Amino acid sequence: MPARVIDLHTHSTASDGTTPPELLVAEAREQGLDVLALTDHDTTGGWAAAEQARPAGLALVRGAEVSCVRDGISLHLLAYLFDPVEPALAEALRALRESRVGRAERMAQLLEADGTGVTWARVQELAGGTVGRPHVAQAILEQGHVADVSAAFTPEWIGTGGRYYAGKLELDVLDAIRLVVGAGGVPVFAHPCATARGRTVSDDVIAQMAGAGLVGLEVDHVDHGAAARAHLTGLAGELGLLSTGSSDFHGANKTVQLGAHTTSEPAYDAVLAAASGAVPVLLG
Ligand code: AMP
Ligand code: ZN
Ligand code: FE
Ligand code: FE
Repeated sequence: MPARVIDLHTHSTASDGTTPPELLVAEAREQGLDVLALTDHDTTGGWAAAEQARPAGLALVRGAEVSCVRDGISLHLLAYLFDPVEPALAEALRALRESRVGRAERMAQLLEADGTGVTWARVQELAGGTVGRPHVAQAILEQGHVADVSAAFTPEWIGTGGRYYAGKLELDVLDAIRLVVGAGGVPVFAHPCATARGRTVSDDVIAQMAGAGLVGLEVDHVDHGAAARAHLTGLAGELGLLSTGSSDFHGANKTVQLGAHTTSEPAYDAVLAAASGAVPVLLG
């Protein structure tokens, strides 16, 4: 049997992707994927639509990407197969989403006050689920100020710390790891070395995360060069963590394609084995 094609990190319109969850699962199967994880930012809002539309032959791993912080540095934690109604984690995700609304409104107001033509009303229209900077970036793009969504992530616009940037609530990553494990889920550190997005945490922090219950590192990712991948592979070995890979697909908001990077079958099987959430993965 050929190896299964496993992509463990994607976004839908439930957060800042451009593909609705029901189309995402169909597209994944058409493109030859065998396993797809749906990991929208701070939400399980896309799970039901993805489950209902799941084509035969595609296993759906239900997850989320949780907004976290450590030592003042923002980082993202992938959480797989957790119980979506476990109260502590569900409340933490709700608070993160609520904070995102206020900060997106603040960014839109700053932009509007400067006569850019961007409005909060328009940003809200563009966001179908969890609102994020890519929605604000789309509104900036529509007004003709930048050539594409990525070009809005600069100091002149809404890059971290930029002119129209506003911060949002983020969970301490060690607390987040404990919350995910407490809900039966499997925590994996997303793109640990994505330096293009801002500062990244030290190996010491990654070791602390491992101590708190981290299960894996997302090694193969579009934002990692060869040196970062080699470093993370070594670190995963030292700390006894799994190495995963995934596309971090965002539809038209990014250029990366589904399945651009993938996870090995042994690593995927180990993720499944580590899960004890109330909701099992859908197989077959
Ligand atoms: P937020 O979570 O609202 O602060 O927005 C962060 C989101 O913006 C993440 O999903 C990233 O994938 C996306 N993002 C960050 N940097 C870029 C970039 N340079 N180009 C496109 N999307 C980006
Ligand atoms: Zn995103
Ligand atoms: Fe991320
Ligand atoms: Fe992501």
